Amino acid sequence: MKSLDLSFISLPEEGRIATRITLGYLFIGSAWLFITHTVPEKVSSDPTLFSPLQLGLDFTLIVLSGALLFWGLRRLLALFKQQENRLHQMIAAACSATGERFFQSLVQSLAEAAGAEYAFVCEFIDGSRQRVRTVAVYAHGRIIDNFEFDLTGTPCQEVIKHGIRCYPQKVRQQFPLDHLAAEMQVESYVGIPLVDSQGEVMGPMAVFGQQGLRRRRLAESMLRLFAVRAAAELERKRSEQTINYMASFDSLTGLPNRQRFSEQLTLALTSAKEDRDLLAVLFVDLDRFKTINDTLGHAVGDWLLREVGSRLATGLRHHDLVARLGGDEFMILLTGIRHTADAGWIAGKILKSLDPPFAFGSMDLHVASSIGIALFPQHGRDPESLMKNADTAMNRAKEMGRNNFQFYASEMNARSLVRLGMENQLRKALDRGEFVLHYQPQYCLGSGLVVGVEALIRWVHPERGLVPPAEFIPLAEETGMIVPIGEWVLRTACRELRRWQLAGSSPGQLSVNLSAWQFQHQDLVGLVRQVLTETGVAAGDLVLEITESVTLHKVEETMERLTTLRQLGVQIAIDDFGTGYSSLSYLRQFPIQSLKIDRSFLRDFETGSGGSGIIRAIIAMARSLRLEVVAEGVERQDQLDFLRVNGCDKVQGFLLSHPVPPEQISCLIADAFLKSQAWPSPVRPLRIK
Ligand code: C2E
Ligand code: MG
Ligand code: MG
Repeated sequence: MKSLDLSFISLPEEGRIATRITLGYLFIGSAWLFITHTVPEKVSSDPTLFSPLQLGLDFTLIVLSGALLFWGLRRLLALFKQQENRLHQMIAAACSATGERFFQSLVQSLAEAAGAEYAFVCEFIDGSRQRVRTVAVYAHGRIIDNFEFDLTGTPCQEVIKHGIRCYPQKVRQQFPLDHLAAEMQVESYVGIPLVDSQGEVMGPMAVFGQQGLRRRRLAESMLRLFAVRAAAELERKRSEQTINYMASFDSLTGLPNRQRFSEQLTLALTSAKEDRDLLAVLFVDLDRFKTINDTLGHAVGDWLLREVGSRLATGLRHHDLVARLGGDEFMILLTGIRHTADAGWIAGKILKSLDPPFAFGSMDLHVASSIGIALFPQHGRDPESLMKNADTAMNRAKEMGRNNFQFYASEMNARSLVRLGMENQLRKALDRGEFVLHYQPQYCLGSGLVVGVEALIRWVHPERGLVPPAEFIPLAEETGMIVPIGEWVLRTACRELRRWQLAGSSPGQLSVNLSAWQFQHQDLVGLVRQVLTETGVAAGDLVLEITESVTLHKVEETMERLTTLRQLGVQIAIDDFGTGYSSLSYLRQFPIQSLKIDRSFLRDFETGSGGSGIIRAIIAMARSLRLEVVAEGVERQDQLDFLRVNGCDKVQGFLLSHPVPPEQISCLIADAFLKSQAWPSPVRPLRIK
């Protein structure tokens, strides 16, 4: 390491010693002149004695001035040594400490070395770099509390703008707006900007006093010497703060994260236990957020999460805590609530606060949420169980149809266990051959004949008997098991169709349901091609039913897949039509052949009601797009008549047949054939695109 250059050290002590030596020398010299001119003549009249006397006096002069020089030099060197030691101590102290201790020892050393009353290190606390907070302040011999101040009109502002600045006197006159200087009666000031490794100024470091600056050069040099180290330490402190922030806060929304939430919950629980207070943990999960993310992209999804976060935060009391756990999950801590009902009231308020749409450009995004509530002490006494139970209650809210809140109840855990057990059993069901397919015939409204069948899966559960798909398909989708299950359905149904065809009792087309997950994650085209080849079923006999949500997902990719499937010769139908948000323009572009009207419209059916209007509109739209219309869920004769009058093409429903095991299909075909003789004639012919 380069040795320190101490030449800058100029001390008033040094001046005093030099003056003393000079005055001493002048005194001795004058005395010598006086003595050599007067004393010999006075002592003796013999000039021969003058010379030795002169010699003696000269010698005395040399001894005296030598002694004086020795004394002076020794004092001077001792002084230098003392200053050097002090500087070394300062450097050692400043360099050995870190963090707060470093800054405290630095400001103390700076003030002492410069002989000033004050020294401080400050950092910006706002983006506009107008306000600073002190990191360490030394005032009148001690470290005092940190404070914030505005830089406007202060010498520090000049330092930030122009670099190192020294005002040896009259600071208050030069900076009349500096209230701090006025308050501290500052007369002199030296400051330097602290610059980070990117060249950005982080704040000023300064030494200032109530008198004129005596050691100006020293003060300046000290500031220069320590500025780099102080800046590095300030930068380190900042990175430490950033790391701490990242460990406790969510970077997307700026809200506390799970870790911080759980810490705060622990603290809140401690005081709630002492004060016998109530406390509520709310688990908020956005409904169908994935659809927004998938359809509009992650940038919009992120924006929406931020907006939701701030709407949640602004809607609550200042002492409530909102955290983001990740994804579309938020957690809220309500403290100081008096009654259980208060938590429900606040949850209701949260649901309402999300009602108004979020405007993204010209688009209005609607978001709802499901909320689970766990209360202290009823539903848990520690952070983990409260958070877990709020989560369980939230899942219950989802099951209850979303956009609602639920309080935790101990049975819910039992339900979660059932679900877990079911997941394990579902994993084994395929290998154990516990799935079967039932087929529901589809009838042509024109002829009354069976023109197709829809394959519908059932799980023959060893204990629970026949389990309907609604109870396990969502679980299969969540766990990814839908892929092997879907493959099994397609293969089994195609094999069955081929068997019927070979036996001479073909039901016409075979419809197979595909879940959105399958459509997006599986090599569907490859699978369909393979199954068709393997079973010998003609592509034209297979109809794949997809839901509307599939058409909303990654439109271009979907279009490409559907086109390839269509090129194979397979037909595509949109199932449960009318419940999603299909855009008409997509419908026109997608290579689909039929729409299956959702059975909820038929359920609400009453001639002249809204349901019938929707059915008419769907049929009219399908006509104009040259798509075939299938109505499912036909349970009553009046529904069937309505559909026939309005030109629906095919029907499917309990009125005509429930889904049945494969062996019953041939009977249904024959039965329909016999009845078809009495079947009314069709309303309009159809040309499929
Ligand atoms: P979906 O594709 O809309 O199937 C029609 C559902 O309506 C069937 O219910 C059927 O039994 C029922 N249904 C038919 N006619 C009537 C009626 O007149 N009244 C009433 N109330 N219901 C009727 P299911 O079999 O319980 O299937 C429910 C859903 O499960 C299906 O709706 C489909 O989305 C899904 N699903 C069934 N099998 C599979 C499969 O193999 N793979 C996939 N991914 N999903 C399947
Ligand atoms: Mg279907
Ligand atoms: Mg359907």
